Amino acid sequence: MLYTDLDECINVLTKLIINKTLHNIANNVGGPFGAGVIQIVDSKYRIVAVQSNEVLLRDDPTAHSEMLAIKEACKVLGKKMLDDCILVTTSRSCPMCLSAAMWARIPTIYYSEDYDKAHKHGFIDDDIYDYINGRNHIIKEVRIKNEVCDKLFAEWDKKTEKEMY
Ligand SMILES: [Zn+2]
Repeated sequence: MLYTDLDECINVLTKLIINKTLHNIANNVGGPFGAGVIQIVDSKYRIVAVQSNEVLLRDDPTAHSEMLAIKEACKVLGKKMLDDCILVTTSRSCPMCLSAAMWARIPTIYYSEDYDKAHKHGFIDDDIYDYINGRNHIIKEVRIKNEVCDKLFAEWDKKTEKEMY
């Protein structure tokens, strides 16, 4: 269905997201996070993905609602770039999901709750941002120099027909 009004489309999508997320919370599928994707088609709007967090069910720390919604939208639309889409989330995206949205070239994210809410409920978004900003060391990154790894770029450069992403 195509919506002429973005607010109406976001409201409908949000209701779908909330229902799915409430179901997932009740069934131990995942945390209190949901997301969806809206595609803009000739200045109209259509919902192409509705997801909620599935970290618990999948034993997968990357199964955030935004990751699942981006994957679903790409599958539905048959493409890897979502530059004509809007991401809608119940909470502001964590750095992983924000990066995934950037890789997908999604230009706009609409979110409801902010990081502080997720942090207050025990999620580590703030810690990850603190790491990015150099304020903690919750993960160690170690540079190893191996010329074999550099060859991958050489092989990539040699390819004459390749699709950039
Ligand atoms: Zn995330």
